[in-house]
Amino acid sequence: MARVFSGIQPSGEMHIGNWLGAIQNYVALQDGNDCLYCVVDQHAITGAYEVATLAERTREMAISLLAAGVDPSRAVLFVQSHVPEHATLAWLLATIAPLGELERMTQYKDKAQRFESVPTGLLTYPVLMAADILLYRAEAVPVGDDQVQHLELARELARRWNAAFSRESPFFPEPQPILSPAKRIMGLDGQSKMSKSLGNTIGVTEAPEAIWQKLRPAMTDPARKTKTDPGTPEICNIYALHRHFSPPETVEHVATQCRSAGWGCIDCKKVLATNMSERLAPIRDRSLELRGDPDTVRQVLGDGAATARRMAAETMVEVSNRMGFLVEGA
Ligand code: ATP
Ligand code: MG
Repeated sequence: MARVFSGIQPSGEMHIGNWLGAIQNYVALQDGNDCLYCVVDQHAITGAYEVATLAERTREMAISLLAAGVDPSRAVLFVQSHVPEHATLAWLLATIAPLGELERMTQYKDKAQRFESVPTGLLTYPVLMAADILLYRAEAVPVGDDQVQHLELARELARRWNAAFSRESPFFPEPQPILSPAKRIMGLDGQSKMSKSLGNTIGVTEAPEAIWQKLRPAMTDPARKTKTDPGTPEICNIYALHRHFSPPETVEHVATQCRSAGWGCIDCKKVLATNMSERLAPIRDRSLELRGDPDTVRQVLGDGAATARRMAAETMVEVSNRMGFLVEGA
């Protein structure tokens, strides 16, 4: 039994990359592990964001997690900003985080290009992420490929902190990533990782018609200019998606039809749209139910925050003692 923690930003709707790369593991790990899952709203404010919709996006993300199978009777589901200790521990860890390594983070370098004046929070994002995980002394973190580098930093911060403040018996475990076979799903543009912030996604709660409208213009093998040009399935993102949404015999058929130009890309996408819609239908149905039941969602997040706060407070007592802070009332 391991302590598991992971977070997802309410920076947009949960997409199939999140689901295949991380959320399916969130659900699977609930069997036999001690899991905490968090809607990391404080991460979603690094950079310009829409204030008016943040709360609603946060609630929606919690709904999507529940709809995807996060089970509040087996996992703690909560909102990051409801537990102030995340930010407190992030500050403490920032005092030992090497600037050079933060500057070398791929996500930082990518996202920093989108700003004229780069906010410090973008640079220290991985420190807050380390705090999220270490606050619960988690050992395992289900994530997509893009977060592996941040987790390396979390391990380094755990090691540094242990070496400085907890020499005899290391207080923080070194959290390990748990990756899925779909650790990096490409966006519909076929150019970059599917990302909420890039608008190249298919949401897990989208209706079949919306899924089709998004798949129809999606990038395929550029060699297939017309229906009669044969293609190479291995370089086509639509084929990659078939491997995650279609049964093995369909995947094989798709590959043959692509190589022989038996099908046009539209034929191939139609089959994918049908299979994807079918797989996502239960998530969509459940999310519609939950949207109509705000009391349940409120209750789940309230209970989750209470449990998380209790755990976080325990950790912070130990952290404060080891770092030598004056205990209140002492
Ligand atoms: P943003 O663009 O705002 O960063 P995002 O789509 O990257 O949003 P996050 O909330 O940052 O989503 O990540 C949630 C989880 O989903 C993380 O574990 C992340 O590694 C994983 N993930 C994100 N995008 C993908 C993807 N394209 N393929 C596989 N896993 C992904
Ligand atoms: Mg991301």
